[in-house]
Amino acid sequence: MSPVAVADVAVVGCGVIGLATAERLVARGLTVVVIDPAGVAGGASGASGGLVRAYDPGFPDLAAEGLEIYLRRGWHGRWPAIRQSGSLVLFDAGAIHQAMTATGRHADLLSANEIHKKFDGLTVPPNFVGLYESRAGWLPAREVARALLADAQPGLSLLDSARATAVVTTGGRVSGVQTTAGLVQAAAVLLAAGVGSTELARTVGVDLPLRTRSVSYCMFRPRRPGRVPTMVDTTTGAWLRPWNTPGAVLAGVTSESCDVPPSVSDEVPLTEQHRVRDVLRHRYPELVNAEVIGGVTAFDAMAPAKGAVTVWNEPAGLVTATGWNGGGFKLAPAVGSLAAEQIHGLIGAGLTAAGFGGE
Ligand SMILES: Cc1cc2nc3c(=O)[nH]c(=O)nc-3n(C[C@H](O)[C@H](O)[C@H](O)COP(=O)(O)OP(=O)(O)OC[C@H]3O[C@@H](n4cnc5c(N)ncnc54)[C@H](O)[C@@H]3O)c2cc1C
Repeated sequence: MSPVAVADVAVVGCGVIGLATAERLVARGLTVVVIDPAGVAGGASGASGGLVRAYDPGFPDLAAEGLEIYLRRGWHGRWPAIRQSGSLVLFDAGAIHQAMTATGRHADLLSANEIHKKFDGLTVPPNFVGLYESRAGWLPAREVARALLADAQPGLSLLDSARATAVVTTGGRVSGVQTTAGLVQAAAVLLAAGVGSTELARTVGVDLPLRTRSVSYCMFRPRRPGRVPTMVDTTTGAWLRPWNTPGAVLAGVTSESCDVPPSVSDEVPLTEQHRVRDVLRHRYPELVNAEVIGGVTAFDAMAPAKGAVTVWNEPAGLVTATGWNGGGFKLAPAVGSLAAEQIHGLIGAGLTAAGFGGE
């Protein structure tokens, strides 16, 4: 049967990771088919809070590079501009060393007093310090995804009417992706399908364990919002940022709930609303009486160790980019660049799909 699509690379997953990689592949002159029945940013990416900064202890280089690309508004200067509310990461006295090691990359260390002067909405204990990045802030995640898609034209085609069901190999090499609409033939395959990647990797004997972890937030309208940056409190796992409409804030608290359904909804249970309010009121007292005006309950893919771009030897031509565990948005431009470089290298090394380009 003839394939439904033929491209140099098949990307499974139209979130920010798949799109950022696809855009960089097209920039390198390759053709790409992106497969995702949820369409553009229909998974974790569309729900993302969009906080971006250079500080990420798990991925210091990817986060710093990601921020620089976001600051340039992408590779062609067409992405939305960062809302530069400033990024503040709070540490208590015991972790000051950790904060100090991250200063220098356009980041300053602020005392509790300095924090309060700059951001009168916040209350911070005197022994706390804040790692402050004035150039950082947040981005509207869906708009970024749409800008990535636009930048990747005309080399990217989107197959949003089908779900990928298996990676296909010929003679030990990847030759495409089976989908519910038929075969997508490609010389290389990127799995950037979040937790959906596990099942697809298994079809070619690759073990890629991933779990869902709950990520949610509420939007609050405080009576006197005061000045707030995007903020992460390492002592409680709380985070917030100004919301899209003036005077409102988006706020969440890291959750340890794993193996939740991989779905996105705009309902936040009352228990979660109370939890967010209870934890965050110690840093942002205005939340005590703030009205809840919306929210999101979603998930991200969590890897046992940490997220990674992996080039698999068996089957040749398979690359995975998964497991970003609640922090993948800020990394996406750098992850996409890295994954595209790896895939381009594979294709340059003569890896071609059977019957496509010849051997
Ligand atoms: C509520 C929330 C807030 C967040 N806030 C931040 C933040 O402020 N800053 C930050 O850096 N990160 C944040 N994150 C994390 C970040 O959004 C994610 O790490 C990132 O979006 C993951 O992108 P992805 O492309 O890997 O996955 P996804 O966006 O989940 O994309 C995977 C796609 O694969 C598709 N798929 C799955 N199976 C198949 C299949 N068989 N066939 C075809 N397609 C398939 C899905 O439909 C999905 O669209 C947040 C996440 C959530 C949920």
